[in-house]
Amino acid sequence: MDRNLSLITPTGRLTLGNHLGALRRFVAAQDASGNGASGEDRAGGECFFGLSDLHALTTPQDPAVLRATVTEMATLFLAAGLDPARATLFRQSQVPAHRELAYLLECTAYTGELNRMIQFKEKGRGVPSTRVSLYTYPALMAADILLYRPSVVPVGDDQRQHVELTRDVAIRFNHAYGPVFVVPEVRTPAAGARVMDLADPTRKMSKSAEPDAGVIRLLDPPDVVRRKVSRAVTDSDTGPDAVRVSAEKPGVSNLLDILAACGGSADGITTYGALKSAVTEAVVATLDPLQRAHAELADDPAYVESVFAAGSAHCREVTASVLADATAAMGL
Ligand code: AMP
Repeated sequence: MDRNLSLITPTGRLTLGNHLGALRRFVAAQDASGNGASGEDRAGGECFFGLSDLHALTTPQDPAVLRATVTEMATLFLAAGLDPARATLFRQSQVPAHRELAYLLECTAYTGELNRMIQFKEKGRGVPSTRVSLYTYPALMAADILLYRPSVVPVGDDQRQHVELTRDVAIRFNHAYGPVFVVPEVRTPAAGARVMDLADPTRKMSKSAEPDAGVIRLLDPPDVVRRKVSRAVTDSDTGPDAVRVSAEKPGVSNLLDILAACGGSADGITTYGALKSAVTEAVVATLDPLQRAHAELADDPAYVESVFAAGSAHCREVTASVLADATAAMGL
């Protein structure tokens, strides 16, 4: 039985992009995994979805803001339809095996490999105040994966380098110390929704974008969604076929993608104004059930916390033997 594993880092409030590109897919994976209450009878494999709060610390975070972001994200995982009876929901920091194995893997990875990692190259190298963890986090990411022994890791192109490093480190470890890790295959699924920033449609809609005028948050009320969509970048072409998907029209293409992903239709739409109204309506309708569920769950933070505490306890059990095997294999 294979395992389905995915983490989201709490470095900003969740966006429409996170919902369409990740949360909604998590729910679909959970739904495809069967209804058995115990992990063993799930046809499609056990699902683990986590908040990678340790990864958030690779850049400065205000502790109070981080705590609030984690709480909101945990609540939104449940509001989006993740079900603790069918998926294990956890916090990385509550499963100490992640950071323990990360150190053992730091003792396996090479500086030559970490120097090549894109995040560090683009955001950290040469900046004296770069946190050491921004350099070493790929070892933590390898631990996040290897602890759960998945045979396949489905990732977007932007994550490919991490999983390739994970494979290299696992192969090297197994060769040096014995066959402890399952070496996962990288699988890039058919392109899913890639939601672009409304104000700058050449870049991805990101939860940590600054400024964030072009970012729709999952908890944005309808009037905020309307305002952000109404200010979305389109272009100056106003011909009869102005509303179409085209590489020369990234803003319009993005709005059409969002409309389709949110279940709307562009049939008969010929003006940007009409397109923006349709997008607003479709996005508001998509967010509405999620926001209602969030409002109910937010009244019971102890429940949300208990779900993640139980999931994290399950992860501690699942990961203990892998960590023990790796520790012993290294001679500790
Ligand atoms: P990130 O917010 O970059 O940490 O990504 C968390 C998850 O959300 C990953 O599975 C991403 O692929 C997905 N995701 C983030 N932003 C977008 C976006 N703009 N469009 C589609 N998927 C996204």
